Amino acid sequence: MDSDTSDPNQSGEAGKISRRRLLALIGVAGAAAVAAPLVPSMMGKSTGTASGEAGKKAGGVLRQWTLVIDLRKCEGCVTQDKPPACTEACNTEHFVPAGQQWLRVMNVKSEAGHTYYLPRPCMQCENPPCVKVCPVGATYRTEEGVTLINHERCIGCRMCMAACPYGARSFNWNQPQNPPGATFAKYSPEFPVPHRQGTVEKCMLCAHRTADGKLPACAEKCPMKAIYLGDLTEDIATNGTDIVKLSTFLGENSAYRLKEELGTRPRVWYIPGHGQEYGHHVGDERATQNPRSWQELGATLDKTHEGGK
Ligand code: SF4
Ligand code: SF4
Ligand code: SF4
Repeated sequence: MDSDTSDPNQSGEAGKISRRRLLALIGVAGAAAVAAPLVPSMMGKSTGTASGEAGKKAGGVLRQWTLVIDLRKCEGCVTQDKPPACTEACNTEHFVPAGQQWLRVMNVKSEAGHTYYLPRPCMQCENPPCVKVCPVGATYRTEEGVTLINHERCIGCRMCMAACPYGARSFNWNQPQNPPGATFAKYSPEFPVPHRQGTVEKCMLCAHRTADGKLPACAEKCPMKAIYLGDLTEDIATNGTDIVKLSTFLGENSAYRLKEELGTRPRVWYIPGHGQEYGHHVGDERATQNPRSWQELGATLDKTHEGGK
C-alpha cells in the first residue's frame, strides 16, 4: 500500500492538476497535490438524483460528495489519550443530543485477531433504503448525493431507522436540550437546530459547511488527518493538508465500502489499516474513550453554527 500522498511526482506527470487549480476546485486550504491516471472502475457512477430540494452548486460545479477514511491514520485518538476528536467535533458542531453519536468510532476485531478503529458516519448511500421507506418523504437525497432529513416533515415512525443497515440514525425520544438562542436559529435540513422531540437525527455530511467550501467538522478536527472530503465530479479529495486524486487514492490503497453486498452503494470509502501511521501497534487493544457532549465541551450557538457563516 502507498501511504505517501504528499509527493506530487508519485504518480507521474500525466494527470497532474496545478495546486492552485485544486485549491480553487475544492475550496479549502491545502498543501501538497497529487494527480494520477483515473481508476474509473472504483468510482461507481453517481445517480445524483434530486428529490425536490435544489442541490447546491459550488463554483458552477455540481459536487458529488464522498468521504474517505484512512484507517492507517486513525488510531481512535487513544495514543493521544483522548476521546475521538472527530466525534467530539460532530457533537459540538451540531449540538448532538445526549446519548447519540452521529459519528461513532467503533472498535473492530479483524480476521487476524487484532483490533482497529472504524469511524462510522452516515454512509450517504447512493441507493439509500432509508429514503425508500419514509412514508412522508421527510428523508431525501440531494443532487449532491447527501441524504438529509426534513424535521418539519418527520413524523417519527422510525421506518428509516429500521431500514438503515449501518445504524446511522438515532431517535429523539425526549426533547433534546438545545443551545441558548436555538429558538431563533434558522432551521434547515442542512443544519438541523433546534432539535425536536419525536424526530430522527443523523450525520448530514455537514452540508452547511461543504456549501461554504469548508471541510466537515470531523475532518477538520481529526488530529491525524484521517478523514478526507472527496468530490466525484472533480475526482479529488482533501483532508485539509493533502490533496489527492480520489480515484487513484482509492484504487491504489484497496479502498472498500461497508456492506457493499447490500447494494446500498455507500459514498464513504475506507482505506484498510489500524492506525499504524501514528504509532498504534497491533496488539495494543485499548478501547476508545467516551466522547464528551457539546455541553461538556462548552459549545455555543454563534455565527460559526449559523449556516456555516
Ligand atoms: S478519525 Fe481522527 S479524530 Fe477520529 S478517532 Fe480516528 S484519529 Fe481520532
Ligand atoms: S447509511 Fe443509513 S441513514 Fe445513511 S443514507 Fe445509508 S441507509 Fe440512509
Ligand atoms: S460529516 Fe459532519 S455531521 Fe457527519 S459525522 Fe462528520 S461532523 Fe458529524
